Amino acid sequence: MKKVSIIGAGPSGSYLACILANHGFEVSVFEEHDKVGFPVQCTGITTSFLKELVELKKEFVINKVSKARIFSTNKDFVDIRIKENFVLDRAKFDHYLMKKAEKQGVKFFLGHRFVGADKNTIRIQKAKSKIIKEIKTDYIVGADGPLSDVARSFKFKNKKEFLYGIQARVKLKNNNIVEFYPYIGEYAWVVPESKEIVRIGVASGKNTKKIFDDFIRERLKENQIMEIQAGLIPVYNPKAKVQKNNVFLLGDAAKMVKATTGGGIIPGILGAKALANSIIKRKDYNTQLKKLVKKELLIHLKARHIMNKFSNKDWDYLIKICNNPKIKKILSENERDFISRILIESIIAEPRLLYFAKFIF
Ligand SMILES: Cc1cc2nc3c(=O)[nH]c(=O)nc-3n(C[C@H](O)[C@H](O)[C@H](O)COP(=O)(O)OP(=O)(O)OC[C@H]3O[C@@H](n4cnc5c(N)ncnc54)[C@H](O)[C@@H]3O)c2cc1C
Repeated sequence: MKKVSIIGAGPSGSYLACILANHGFEVSVFEEHDKVGFPVQCTGITTSFLKELVELKKEFVINKVSKARIFSTNKDFVDIRIKENFVLDRAKFDHYLMKKAEKQGVKFFLGHRFVGADKNTIRIQKAKSKIIKEIKTDYIVGADGPLSDVARSFKFKNKKEFLYGIQARVKLKNNNIVEFYPYIGEYAWVVPESKEIVRIGVASGKNTKKIFDDFIRERLKENQIMEIQAGLIPVYNPKAKVQKNNVFLLGDAAKMVKATTGGGIIPGILGAKALANSIIKRKDYNTQLKKLVKKELLIHLKARHIMNKFSNKDWDYLIKICNNPKIKKILSENERDFISRILIESIIAEPRLLYFAKFIF
């Protein structure tokens, strides 16, 4: 039986573990933290496409949202009916995926940190212990997040480009609408967790703390803040190396994150499906990724490059155009996981969008 060692028990790692164990592989997952899902560094919103990938459970879907409000710099906005988005309790979601994988026979080693490797041998250190165990394995998967130790250990040498995300959970009565501010930092958001609590955050490549402080100062008092969370968001890099012989990178470790919104849960899971196909059917991993997720991630990246060139006037013009009922309909009927379809249909419905083509060149 072929042995697979997965480093990292985030959604990408546990999802992959479950599929491979189901196909007869002997799978071990090594997670440095004692508890899966902690510390939480995620807003936890996904499109409705999640239900095609994971059986939804009340234990981790804590809210559902069907309306988004996108703001422009002059406080104008467009309201869009969206297919039901899910707001997850990330810790419970990660825990659910772990339990599902365990049922398929995956062994989880919590409090076990990957510290290095040579070819087919990984070195794992147990928390609070100096003893390092060497483990022989056939496949090694780095699903170990943005600062992947596996990528470093095997010298993948991918570009280190990140945004820094900061968010607060705050007490704030709300109307269950997702607010999105595409011009603040790289982007900023307000995501309702319940009628009384929202997750409000900012992602930016620089000055994130100041942008975050300014963003929340406008709308909150200090005593409304319950918790602050922060983390790195990789910038998608289509040229990132994701495989070296029997070593693979997955999820944030492979930079699989939508550059327009920072969404990495669904791309990570799609990446896990691609990697499972590759290992089970001995197919090229990169080709599988291209089929399932890379094409859309590239369009998100191009859209982000274009948006980074926008002036305030451009944002205001875009939001004005988006108030066209035909565009609102396209935005409400399509998931942002499939952004290519949104762009093509929108340009056909509203040729004024071609104004923004000047930013491509
Ligand atoms: C502020 C913020 C908000 C976000 N909001 C959203 C959102 O609303 N929606 C969305 O889709 N995405 C969001 N993201 C992105 C999302 O959190 C990630 O894309 C997602 O968690 C990636 O999953 P993963 O399994 O690849 O990696 P991770 O979830 O990062 O899991 C990696 C795991 O590897 C473990 N690990 C790391 N190093 C080692 C080691 N040496 N040995 C053993 N274990 C190790 C870590 O402890 C961790 O458990 C957000 C990110 C941030 C920072």
